[in-house]
Amino acid sequence: MSNKSVLDAPLLERIRGRASGYDEDNRFFQEDLDELRAAGYLRPRPLDQMVADQRLLAAHAPATALGLGMHFTWMGVAQTLAAEGDESLQFVLDDAEAGELFAFGVSEKGNDRVLTDSVTRVEKVDGGYRYTGEKIFTSLSPAWTRLSVLGRMDDQIVHGFITRDTEGYTIHDDWDTLGMRATQSHTTVLDGARVDQSRLARVVPVGDLTDPFIGAIFKNFLLLVSAVYVGIAERALELAVQAVGSRTSMGRDGASYATDPDIRWQIADMAMAVDALDAPLRTLADDVVAQAPHGPKWFRLLSGVKHRSVETARTVVDGSLRLHGGRGFKRSSEISRLQRDVLAGVYHPSDTEAVHHTVAFDLLGSEAP
Ligand SMILES: Cc1cc2nc3c(=O)[nH]c(=O)nc-3n(C[C@H](O)[C@H](O)[C@H](O)COP(=O)(O)OP(=O)(O)OC[C@H]3O[C@@H](n4cnc5c(N)ncnc54)[C@H](O)[C@@H]3O)c2cc1C
Repeated sequence: MSNKSVLDAPLLERIRGRASGYDEDNRFFQEDLDELRAAGYLRPRPLDQMVADQRLLAAHAPATALGLGMHFTWMGVAQTLAAEGDESLQFVLDDAEAGELFAFGVSEKGNDRVLTDSVTRVEKVDGGYRYTGEKIFTSLSPAWTRLSVLGRMDDQIVHGFITRDTEGYTIHDDWDTLGMRATQSHTTVLDGARVDQSRLARVVPVGDLTDPFIGAIFKNFLLLVSAVYVGIAERALELAVQAVGSRTSMGRDGASYATDPDIRWQIADMAMAVDALDAPLRTLADDVVAQAPHGPKWFRLLSGVKHRSVETARTVVDGSLRLHGGRGFKRSSEISRLQRDVLAGVYHPSDTEAVHHTVAFDLLGSEAP
């Protein structure tokens, strides 16, 4: 495993330079993927490094980072389990070292139980399992080579991976969204798609949140998603500073907006909000790597940091847009794209209701009277 980021400045600038075109054309970030794969970016590394890299990448191209966050979630899950002495996902790490790209096929229409239940049906067959159902919002649809799927078989949730050459699935080219367009998160219809026994990840009882496999998904997914929105917030602040430095006020005899006390106050407020995201994100990523004993409080801490990262990013992007003046409202402006991209954050688990439920449960116990 490498300890050094492969994200050098020229690569990041090329990636930033392509982001608006992908968004405008509603096109997958293929060239970014090709360059990042060639640079070794897809390889597994400790969660704290993946989080730091993803945060930086998101500040240059949010959709590229969000899409690749699905791959890194599986790298993180496999590593978290391995650190706990469970080598069952070693094949995931081996595949990634060999250049495979992992996607995340969890979401289903109307399934707000997310990981703990499924409307996809699973049938045991000779040497594996067959999945029938529909997965929505499958990021990396044009490019994944391994797709995780979960479905229900009696009272169990069966998690496994299909390969791109598996028969029995169809990708519907139906991604046309307000933001995060380059993720190309199409619908995936599973029609008896086969997970080979060798690619079975876990079988978990319906409703169970105690299996370390589920805990590992929460830890890695929520921190890697948070990293994307922290990166967006950091970029929005950077753009706000640039914008106020380049605007002058006729009302203040041509003075720079950067000298206006009201504007300075707004920038300072935004910066304090952004700065407050750094420590929780890095601390929790370190805690995952160090296997900190947070026990059931993990859920509260992780969903809380995701919620705060997204909500702060939304506020900061909004403030930055105001400080840009009318130029920010142009369709071609980076901040207007960030305004659309950042909205995606509210839809990823844990959504607003789920995070409040989780935090209240940790403090107050069950809602049952
Ligand atoms: C940019 C982005 C990338 C994502 N990438 C991934 C990914 O890679 N993998 C993944 O698993 N998830 C991914 N997600 C999915 C995300 O985590 C959520 O599951 C998703 O946003 C939908 O959540 P929801 O609860 O709002 O869905 P729902 O409210 O269930 O709505 C989703 C869709 O289903 C329709 N729908 C809802 N209920 C019904 C019903 N009963 N009957 C018929 N239609 C219905 C809605 O009209 C809507 O179009 C991504 C989301 C975003 C925004």
